[in-house]
Amino acid sequence: RAKETGKARCVVYSPKHSGPPEHDISLEAAMFQAVREGEFLLYYQPIVDARTREIQGFETLMRWKHPTLGMVPPARFIPIAETNGLINLLGAWALKAASVQLKQFEEVAKRRLYISVNISPRQFRNDKFLDVLDDALAFSGLSGEQLVLEITEGTLMVDPIHAETILSKMALRKARIAIDDFGTGYSSLAYLKRFPISVLKIDRTFIRDLPGSQKDGAICNAVLDLAKHLDLSVVAEGVETEEQLHYLDDRGCQYIQGYLTGKPMPANVAMTALKESTYANLLPEELRQVHQ
Ligand code: C2E
Ligand code: MG
Ligand code: MG
Ligand code: MG
Repeated sequence: RAKETGKARCVVYSPKHSGPPEHDISLEAAMFQAVREGEFLLYYQPIVDARTREIQGFETLMRWKHPTLGMVPPARFIPIAETNGLINLLGAWALKAASVQLKQFEEVAKRRLYISVNISPRQFRNDKFLDVLDDALAFSGLSGEQLVLEITEGTLMVDPIHAETILSKMALRKARIAIDDFGTGYSSLAYLKRFPISVLKIDRTFIRDLPGSQKDGAICNAVLDLAKHLDLSVVAEGVETEEQLHYLDDRGCQYIQGYLTGKPMPANVAMTALKESTYANLLPEELRQVHQ
């Protein structure tokens, strides 16, 4: 069974239970069951070029489809997995499965894409993390440059010396580092100088009230300016309206991720989106307008 479904779903037999049972115990117990039953799935959300709207890559977002509870949001199960250590198993699976999936996406798109994967603080600290990374790259045949690892400011600041070592080893593999939820952490900007970071993802809370909010506009402009001078790419998260997209594009934000340009979707739906955009790009300009 594990062999049959191994690529598409996370299936293992006897995970070790170790964390403190301080939160939702029934949900936690259900998680181990869910791992055995293969209830965890990966969704993919397009990251697009703000100007052309062409898909450049996808962020991998984990889903738990519980038989009776329905979709359990990651905001509920990731913190539990982080506490009991299951995140190491789930995270390793996500990294490997998403890397394999990207190869299939590229076959459909007939061009190079990248995959962005969230790495939790505990995964980042885990001794085996670099092995997990190497395994995903070797197994999928993906090259390091096609992989973006999303971490938060908090992950870097827990143990900056350790972080520096890990990040330099990731850099040797050419994997890129994105700072997720940028601007919501408590750390200083000094870490942008210290660590080899490639991408800033502006948190959704700064995008939500654009273009109306002057303060959010000022923050976005400052991030874009900073990124330009530090030679970093910027992805704006949570873009839901055309107005937000235009506002960001006008100010030089190159990449967009949000419901406007694509919700998180199962792999087969993502492949349809890639096919459609590929055909659209083959059409002459006038037809393309009719097509849209
Ligand atoms: P994140 O990494 O910041 O992911 C972006 C979140 O914003 C996703 O929520 C996505 O569905 C949501 N989002 C994207 N565009 C829009 C939009 O236009 N409007 C709104 N309202 N929301 C939008 P999701 O999938 O619920 O994931 C929540 C968080 O859970 C993620 O935040 C990430 O921190 C964590 N997470 C998800 N999958 C994984 C995983 O595989 N591993 C780890 N360690 N964490 C994960
Ligand atoms: Mg993320
Ligand atoms: Mg984020
Ligand atoms: Mg977030």
